[in-house]
Amino acid sequence: MELHELGLYELQSKLNQGEVSPQEIINAIFKRIHEVDDKVKAFLTLDEENAIKKAAALCKGENRTGLMAGMPFALKDLICTRGLRTTCASRMLENFIPTYDATVASRLNNAQGILIGKLNMDEFAMGCSNELSAFFPTHNPWDLNRVPGGSSGGAAAAVAAREVPVALGSDTAGSIRQPAAYCGVVGFKPSYGRVSRWGVAAYASSMDQVGVIARNVEDCALVLNTIAGKDPLDGTSADIEVPDYTSYLIPDIKGLRLGYPREFFAQPALDPGIKDLVEEALRKYEDMGAIVEEISLPYSEYALPVYYIIGPAEASANMACYDGVRFGLRDLEADNVLDMYCNSRANGFGDEVKRRVMWGTYVLSSGQYEAYYLKAMKVRRLIKNDFDNVFAHIDLIITPTTPTTAFKLGEKNNDFLTSCKNEVFTVSANLAGLPAISIPCGFSDGLPVGMQIIGSAFNEGKVLQAAYAFQQNTPYHQYKLQIGGEQK
Ligand code: GLN
Repeated sequence: MELHELGLYELQSKLNQGEVSPQEIINAIFKRIHEVDDKVKAFLTLDEENAIKKAAALCKGENRTGLMAGMPFALKDLICTRGLRTTCASRMLENFIPTYDATVASRLNNAQGILIGKLNMDEFAMGCSNELSAFFPTHNPWDLNRVPGGSSGGAAAAVAAREVPVALGSDTAGSIRQPAAYCGVVGFKPSYGRVSRWGVAAYASSMDQVGVIARNVEDCALVLNTIAGKDPLDGTSADIEVPDYTSYLIPDIKGLRLGYPREFFAQPALDPGIKDLVEEALRKYEDMGAIVEEISLPYSEYALPVYYIIGPAEASANMACYDGVRFGLRDLEADNVLDMYCNSRANGFGDEVKRRVMWGTYVLSSGQYEAYYLKAMKVRRLIKNDFDNVFAHIDLIITPTTPTTAFKLGEKNNDFLTSCKNEVFTVSANLAGLPAISIPCGFSDGLPVGMQIIGSAFNEGKVLQAAYAFQQNTPYHQYKLQIGGEQK
């Protein structure tokens, strides 16, 4: 198997046995990127020269002490990287070069991982197809006429296309899990507070969470070991002990109680092919010794409307910092400060960002605040209570990740809200701050399907355990794709 096909564990073992050098790994990764990325278009910026230098510095085995020593990784382009352009896929930040690394980037660097480049996304993480990048859309490697999902679509597409073994994305309503499902890879959103958000451009701060996209569950566990834990720079990061997540990689789930929410499986938009596959997966879990039962999350039907009030409300506040003064695009022609603010924002932001700022400002305005924002916050609590009730007697919740497989590029151009309904199963976990993973569970009409596993807060380990057990008993994560072609 070629080096670019391998996951972190296999690469590390080859490295430790002296079969390959860090340079050979990095060269293989860039060779692959140069071969396929003009079709997939996952990367916005590559960091080739630095990556080669870092690999050379690790050529002596005794220098390789870090958890990620010599391992290639890539970052969604809202994660700040010192000296390397960080655009949020927006004209506003097209030329923004941060003077600092986000905590997650420095943790990966300190563990001797090697940054390959920055990945395309929907502008400021608002969107679900990558078509809202201000630069160009990313393509789904399984079918280049389809979207990779979003907003971390560049990350999922790059991992699926074997351009990089792992990438970090961010997930506010499903932006890691939905593209992972569309691209047939693993996407893990940890609990809110488990991973630092410092240095990560904020969209909706009470729901944003950084997480991992990889081709298998064990690589997710390894990266989570590297990035998780309290960060003094992020007041919302939790001071809760971080276990060794790799210790949960045991294919044994006997006695684990799994619940499947009635409301999700009755969703009219749910594609019957996807429903069948997840039901088959539930039977598989039963065969493996888990106890499977129906549960109810009655308030989940309000999750999307609640999200589309709270998300834009927080976005309208977070976007205020892009004013042409501190950083980002500035209109140099304006002859007064107010015009400078207005023109910089009018030219820098795309339509969807502007729409959310207006929406958010409206729901926070006096007169509307009680009717929309406050009401949404109350319903958010009811949604969280649903989960608390279920987790009193259930270990994990199993659902489809999305109601459909990847749609065609351009198909939903005039129908943004319908396309975002694809987050109907993922958004509740963000509202309640819970860990959730999407793993491959089969194919419907030749396109990958994802299954979601949701855990109780800070129980990432159990989520990984159930995901790993399924992975070890099924072949889905091993299918190879030819870019834009059929699975082999
Ligand atoms: N589709 C969601 C949105 O547009 C995705 C948000 C996210 O998870 N970043 O808001």
